[in-house]
Amino acid sequence: MGHDGRVSDRPADVPTESVDVAVVGAGGAGLVALHHLALGLLRGPARPSPLRVALVDDVERLAPGPDGERPRDRTWCSWEPAPAAAPAVLRSWRAVEVLAPGARLALDVRPLRYRMLRGEDYYALVDADAARARRSGRLELLRRPGATAVEDGAERVLVRTPGGDLEAAWVLDSRPCAPVRPARTALLQHFRGEVVRTDPAAPPPFEPDRPVLMDFRTPQPPVGLSFGYCLPLDGRTALVEYTEFSPAVLDDAGYARGLAAYRRLLGLRPDPHGRADGDERLVEVVAVDAVEQGAIPMADDVRTSRAGARVRRLGTAGGATRASTGYTFSALQRQGAAVAAALLAGRDPLPPAAYPRRHRWMDALVLRGLAAGALDGPAFFTRLFAANPPDRVLRFLDGATTRREELALMATAPRAAMAGLAVEDGLVRARRRLSAAMSRSVH
Ligand SMILES: Cc1cc2nc3c(=O)[nH]c(=O)nc-3n(C[C@H](O)[C@H](O)[C@H](O)COP(=O)(O)OP(=O)(O)OC[C@H]3O[C@@H](n4cnc5c(N)ncnc54)[C@H](O)[C@@H]3O)c2cc1C
Repeated sequence: MGHDGRVSDRPADVPTESVDVAVVGAGGAGLVALHHLALGLLRGPARPSPLRVALVDDVERLAPGPDGERPRDRTWCSWEPAPAAAPAVLRSWRAVEVLAPGARLALDVRPLRYRMLRGEDYYALVDADAARARRSGRLELLRRPGATAVEDGAERVLVRTPGGDLEAAWVLDSRPCAPVRPARTALLQHFRGEVVRTDPAAPPPFEPDRPVLMDFRTPQPPVGLSFGYCLPLDGRTALVEYTEFSPAVLDDAGYARGLAAYRRLLGLRPDPHGRADGDERLVEVVAVDAVEQGAIPMADDVRTSRAGARVRRLGTAGGATRASTGYTFSALQRQGAAVAAALLAGRDPLPPAAYPRRHRWMDALVLRGLAAGALDGPAFFTRLFAANPPDRVLRFLDGATTRREELALMATAPRAAMAGLAVEDGLVRARRRLSAAMSRSVH
């Protein structure tokens, strides 16, 4: 029998392991938290016994594959200096471009930098630092396959896995989960990107010092917006992505069409097997070295990190994804640093809210405006960049501006549309409060 009297599904001969922390979910948030724990242990004094940490996720996410590499499943970009992740940064830029029909903004983002990390490099860095912490005798790392249940308790949490149960003092949980309050507006940031290599005999089509953050010259979807994204690794190699903020993902042909159209805007031949289209200036793509595709939720739902007495939620599940932009990586780093510092100091690892409440309110307005067609997305973002210091806009998109800076930013947003959205939002909130009060008085 299990702790709660139910029949346990674990093999009878596998003992329950006791750990200090179970990191349930070894995606972005889980690995960032493990990384900060490992670095904190390495920086800290010797311990009488190692910190026992269990990493729980699907087997392929836990360990490098047969060729010694983790999957090449994502590229992370962010403005956050995130010193812990610095050794994995592949490229960084002091300037970015935003393009719209008839406009090309060259934005000097100093003192910030736009940093690009490949997932596989970051995973390798986490593995290496965790191995160093283990060798130093400060960390003991167990790996277990995906959790079938997490049972909270006042003193310990029971994490059930097919590889044996774990009893943990704390659980850091980043499994996808339902929000505390469902979204009123929800879109997806969905995309497909390819690392393309172009004809070595043709002139280099990319400017290595000018990544393109948003290129709104792409055909726009009926709801939301679309843009191209281009991160040059050198003059002939770049990550080229087609992205939409819209209600649903596309099928394969939809992404292929979006990428082909964006390739053409970049001066690349859209289809390697296609006709030359009579335009001999288009540069041939000779190889696609990697493909990544994803969908990041953009929603004004309410999430919490406090998921029980001893369970703390991190990552997208814990509200780390910025609703109006999908940016998450900086918040993962902030959360990871906070929970590691608290755990190593013997405190409750409850991370601070990923974004201030006022940012979440502004995000909800922008999201509503995009979804309802009240805001022209490309014009809104282009104007935001054109009318404000770029570093201020970027820190805002990452959730790191002050109130005064936000007032200055809001002053450059389309006033009538934003005022209309704010009034509508106020009415919805008032209605919600009223119906909650009425249902309380009825019961
Ligand atoms: C392709 C891609 C590119 C992105 N690029 C950027 C970017 O450039 N900048 C940025 O800021 N953000 C980016 N994001 C968004 C965000 O940073 C990532 O989605 C990030 O991985 C979120 O981390 P997470 O831990 O919340 O979720 P995930 O990384 O999805 O991790 C959740 C984990 O939970 C595990 N899990 C599920 N069920 C169980 C279970 N029962 N037991 C144990 N484990 C379980 C899953 O297997 C998974 O590993 C990108 C996302 C994608 C998909």
